Amino acid sequence: MTTAANDPEVEAARLEALLRYRILDSPPEQVFDDLVDLAATVCYTPVAAIALVAEQRVWLKAKRGVAFSEFPRDSSLAAEALQHSDVFLVRDAVIEERYRDSAVVVAGFRFFAGMPLISPEGHAVGAVCVLDKRPRDLSGEQKDALRALARQAMGQLELRRVSEAESLARYRFRALVEQLPGGVYTEDLGASSGSYFSPPIEKMTGYSAHEWESDPDFFSRVLHPDDRDRVLDAFAHAHETYESIQIEYRIIAKDGRVVWIQDDAAVARDDEGKPMHLQGFMADATSRKQNELQLLEERAKAFERERAQNDRLRSLDRMKDEFVALVSHELRTPLTSIRGYLELVLDDAEQLATDHREFLQIVDRNVDRLLHLVSDLLLVAQADAGKLMFDWAEVDLGSLVAHCVQAAQPAAERAGIELVTVSDASRPIVGDSARIGQLLDNLISNAIKFTPGGGLVAVSVDSSGDSAVIEVRDSGLGISAEEQKQLFERFFRTRSATELAIAGTGLGLSIVKAIVDAHGGTISVDSAEGKGTTFRVLLPFVRAALVTI
Ligand code: ADP
Repeated sequence: MTTAANDPEVEAARLEALLRYRILDSPPEQVFDDLVDLAATVCYTPVAAIALVAEQRVWLKAKRGVAFSEFPRDSSLAAEALQHSDVFLVRDAVIEERYRDSAVVVAGFRFFAGMPLISPEGHAVGAVCVLDKRPRDLSGEQKDALRALARQAMGQLELRRVSEAESLARYRFRALVEQLPGGVYTEDLGASSGSYFSPPIEKMTGYSAHEWESDPDFFSRVLHPDDRDRVLDAFAHAHETYESIQIEYRIIAKDGRVVWIQDDAAVARDDEGKPMHLQGFMADATSRKQNELQLLEERAKAFERERAQNDRLRSLDRMKDEFVALVSHELRTPLTSIRGYLELVLDDAEQLATDHREFLQIVDRNVDRLLHLVSDLLLVAQADAGKLMFDWAEVDLGSLVAHCVQAAQPAAERAGIELVTVSDASRPIVGDSARIGQLLDNLISNAIKFTPGGGLVAVSVDSSGDSAVIEVRDSGLGISAEEQKQLFERFFRTRSATELAIAGTGLGLSIVKAIVDAHGGTISVDSAEGKGTTFRVLLPFVRAALVTI
């Protein structure tokens, strides 16, 4: 037991223990009054009290036979009782010198007995006291009764403290859950609805916590019919497996609104890990869900719009291809006829006046260009439609190159360009001779077109592994690295080609690429501005498609 006042540390701990009971200056309570009555009755004393010894004063929680509620601690016998572990008894305070000035004597009392109130941690916080104005003693039974009453009083103090702590905890919990932006609930394991819901559930759903708690089928009833089976199954699974659950569902609120709930629940376990109940948190997810749904709807609409647009573009593209093919075809017939008649007239050129002959030769060249353009357009349209026809046969690239170079010689001469061919007799490839001729014509005419007078164009054939290699090299304008990326796109022309007004349509290289692709080959370009250009075409000797047959 601690002896108060002697040791400041002990006294401080004792006072702290007393304050923890939060009893000083509290209103009277029946249970303590009853204990005091019992003490007086059992001990035959007119006065009894439960005295609590504070720092400076003695305060009476319950009393009988006295009017005052507190008195100074100094020279108080109740305070002195704290230094004893059992009943402290003064038979006649008047005859004892040291008690002459005590509060007991001053108040006219002579007999005092006090049994200390010892807390479970061993702190003496007060005493159950009985007093009389005449000197006397207590029997053994009376002392026992005083001891028992002190234990009871202490028990009541403890009870008071625990229930106060509990109600504080309850108050804190309530304050906390009411602040939360959603409803907290607990659900007994195996149950189909919660047994406790925090008040905010009413704000979310219109139904009070009480309504949620009172009916075991409540949850199932307010669940949106489309979500009911899925959600009840998920909860049944969580109850069975003790797995946590995160689920979204709709509730039909009291006013008929649809409320989206985000529910997160887990099984709560006791200290030994034994599952106790399910506890969860229901948050209102309506606005988030509405945003999500709106976003999805907008996305679906945008997707639909894009699809319709793509369909429209595709059909426009098809129409354009068909139109180009039709027009090209329809143009070719009259152009071929014009050219035929022109040839007939020019065959007898001597009979024509000089200027008429020159005019007709200009018409002839332009008809040639038109025919060329029309057949390029037709070819592109056919390639797009996958209708490009090929006539597969063995092709001797060496002689084909020689033939094309020869055909381009007049144009090279007119442009003041040296056109040479370096041909290594390569073995034949399987391909379409007319198309490869077209490929060579395009590359060679480009090389001549984009090389200033005095320059050189060299065409070579070689072989590398399984492929024949055709190179068309020129010492001309060259192409920037940036523009090389777009070179094979239809209608693409470099800036210098446009600036220098070099004739062309931007179709040639896309046709070359289509022909190379059809042969299972590759084409690459090596060029630098002002330093010339080399186109390198690899054509496999045997087409892959044919090999696999
Ligand atoms: P076109 O020659 O009718 O313009 P092409 O498709 O054959 O169309 O070529 C596309 C563009 O590529 C040309 O306009 C030109 O700008 C560039 N080009 C092609 N070949 C060469 C080359 N040998 N040297 C420089 N530029 C070239």
